[in-house]
Amino acid sequence: MKVLLVFAHPEPRSLNGALRDVAIKELEVQGHEVRMSDLYAARWKSEIDYADFRLLAPDARLKVAKASGEAFATNTLTEDVKAEHEKLLWADVLILQFPLWWYAMPAILKGWVDRVYAYGFAYGVGEHSDKYWGKRFGEGTLAGKRAMLLVTTGGWEEHYSAHGINGPIDDLLFPINHGVLFYPGYDVLPPFVAYRVDRLDETGFHLVAERLRERMRTLGSTPPIPYRRQNGGDYAIPTLQLRPGLADPGANGFALHLDGTDTADETSPRGRRAASGR
Ligand code: FAD
Repeated sequence: MKVLLVFAHPEPRSLNGALRDVAIKELEVQGHEVRMSDLYAARWKSEIDYADFRLLAPDARLKVAKASGEAFATNTLTEDVKAEHEKLLWADVLILQFPLWWYAMPAILKGWVDRVYAYGFAYGVGEHSDKYWGKRFGEGTLAGKRAMLLVTTGGWEEHYSAHGINGPIDDLLFPINHGVLFYPGYDVLPPFVAYRVDRLDETGFHLVAERLRERMRTLGSTPPIPYRRQNGGDYAIPTLQLRPGLADPGANGFALHLDGTDTADETSPRGRRAASGR
């Protein structure tokens, strides 16, 4: 497979730098082709602004989505963004690697998303009407490809558990997994998270590295998170609310968007729809 790793840490000699090298080495041992976008090394411009849209008149009001769509359609996006599009289209698998900073990705990576995810490329794809709300959440430009997060945290695993003070890690990562990766079509693999890393010793490092190697070995076979597809029939159009009766009893919040039901089970709502071809 072809793998693109987007790396967002300012220090190549960091733990993240070491884990990146572990991941790339294992992928290459497995015969995969790897490319990297090292955002700090490239001095990635993270703010989206006027300079991104050279067709825009100097006195024109900047409307980002409109300018982005025009620049994408006329092939006038900046060269750094176009280079990332080429890599994303090339890759079968995308890995976003970062330390968790303030419960989110570092600003430079958010800025990579803001600028690379152009209108017409990652959003604004497909028909948008009262009957069809675009190709997104399971469909889109990057459909058929896989993506996963590689994250390190200072907090303990327990702090990110269901009752932990930080909130569940799956909830914290939902806006990235669902909103950034599933949105343009990726099949999203469960994240690799290394917890409590700030005082990691040699033994701890080797355990994390081995766990990471195993994830790299199973990149092509790990089942994706079963997010419900926007246009798969689970959501009413145009309100995009989950249809009544589909949620697992007791599920709420982000977990509502996971499809835990089995299409082979014709007693479940989803199974009945699958069986009837709807
Ligand atoms: P490093 O500091 O480079 O290394 C961490 C440890 O790993 C060190 O003990 C080091 O000796 C060891 N190590 C490094 N490389 C090796 C190697 N090759 N072999 C063996 N051992 C090695 N945490 C949270 O949980 N939630 C937050 O919201 C959060 N917000 C933060 C915000 C900011 C601005 C900052 C700076 C930190 C925040 N943290 C948070 C903590 C942060 O997530 C961790 O510091 C980070 O994940 C550690 O990754 P690193 O690559 O920077 O580690």
